[in-house]
Amino acid sequence: KIRTRFAPSPTGHLHIGGLRTALYNYLFAKRNNGDFVLRIEDTDQARLMPDAIEMILQTLTWAGLDPDESFDKPGKYGPYIQSQRLDIYKKYCDVLIKEGKAYYCFSTSDELEESRKLQQKQGLQPKYNRKWLPEYMGGDMPQSKIKDALDRGQPKVVRMKIPEKEMISFNDVVRGRVEFDSSVIDDQILLKADGFPTYHLAVVVDDYLMEISHVIRGEEWLSSTPKHVLLYNFFGWDLPVFAHAPLLLNPDRTKLSKRQGDVSVEDYIKKGFSSEALLNFVALLGWNEGSGTEQEIYTMQELVNKFSLERIGRSGAVFNVEKLSWVEKSHIRLATDGDIAKKILIHLKPLIGTRPSLLSDEVIQSSEYLCSVAALMKERVDFFSEFVTFSSYFFFEPDHYDEEGIRKRWTAATNDTLLCFADRLKNLNLFDVGNIEDSLKLVAEEKNVKTAALVHPVRIAVTGVTFGPSLYHILELIGQDVSVKRLHNAVK
Ligand code: GLU
Repeated sequence: KIRTRFAPSPTGHLHIGGLRTALYNYLFAKRNNGDFVLRIEDTDQARLMPDAIEMILQTLTWAGLDPDESFDKPGKYGPYIQSQRLDIYKKYCDVLIKEGKAYYCFSTSDELEESRKLQQKQGLQPKYNRKWLPEYMGGDMPQSKIKDALDRGQPKVVRMKIPEKEMISFNDVVRGRVEFDSSVIDDQILLKADGFPTYHLAVVVDDYLMEISHVIRGEEWLSSTPKHVLLYNFFGWDLPVFAHAPLLLNPDRTKLSKRQGDVSVEDYIKKGFSSEALLNFVALLGWNEGSGTEQEIYTMQELVNKFSLERIGRSGAVFNVEKLSWVEKSHIRLATDGDIAKKILIHLKPLIGTRPSLLSDEVIQSSEYLCSVAALMKERVDFFSEFVTFSSYFFFEPDHYDEEGIRKRWTAATNDTLLCFADRLKNLNLFDVGNIEDSLKLVAEEKNVKTAALVHPVRIAVTGVTFGPSLYHILELIGQDVSVKRLHNAVK
């Protein structure tokens, strides 16, 4: 069975790169009727951030990337939080020590620092000097000294013994055959002084025990993979399939960084991007459908149907915010009014009751009403959230009137004309676009002003702003009562 995992470290908000990793793992699992597992890698206690687990989960939920197994939806491979699995790592670490593949190291940080400096002076790449490598593993440290140190309870770590001058190779779906020379790899720490495993030990043990079939992650982990491959070999376990997605880059092709813009998903949610647009955009950062397709707008279902690891590219993927905005707009244009209505409701609900409204809660939450708003506004907004923020007059009373508009469009005679128009509207038997338009033109004629001289102030009076869709349609939608009352309110 195909099993993938997303294994974030709870050190902060979920980043765009993390979202992409989660998405690829999700898509690949769903494409193959597999399971998508969420595992929390919190072994680096110093870097933990309170609430990060909750925030990551919230973002995944927002994106709809719901895990099949996680700490709050346990399957049979739990616990799903690494800090709750310490005894498991210890057990596997002991196996490696017993088999002469790992050893205790009691070197203090001062000693390590000193040896590092010495090696640097000699022009060598600093590595652990293997002071504590036991005699029986080819080192200089007699067993008795190790036993002494253990008995005294001296602070220690466990290191894996990296074989000398060996080519470590593995297949990566994206990069093909990958080789690393073992002599550039340090004797990695597996178990730290605080009893916590390092990433390397924990990730290998967990991917094995959780029966992860495919490890899909960012290229920044590629250099860790040979260490993992060695551990798999030490344990005698089969390798999972590896796929490393290309680095995400700033527009100037440097590694994606906070300095050149927002990198946390949270920032894009706050800006109002929708999950379908962001996922669509993120999917294309390193993946394309291939076979000459020009399609760039995908629904989640299409992505699930079409995603494959083979179509992940090797070259860095540039994160281009303008493209994201274009994708967002494209999703709005393609959405049905019904889809949009549901989205509007999500953004609208929290505001109901917080702002005065002449419209009833039932009306503005009804699908019919929201579909009409969708139809009027969908060519005019850049974000789904703007259906509410840009055209709040469909739901609430204007909280102010555009000052510049008033200055330009509101003459001494305007109040009188507006009241006259309000009266005319009040007496309409059929309150529809045609009759509203006729009424306005008649009033303009009577008052001897151009239609525009009436349209503009009416728009300000009813919406508070100077732009928007057809005024007659707005009036028709908000209805006779509300239109008349708003005109009166504006004149006061
Ligand atoms: N805990 C690692 C991270 O923070 C996981 C890397 C991996 O997927 O192996 O991204």
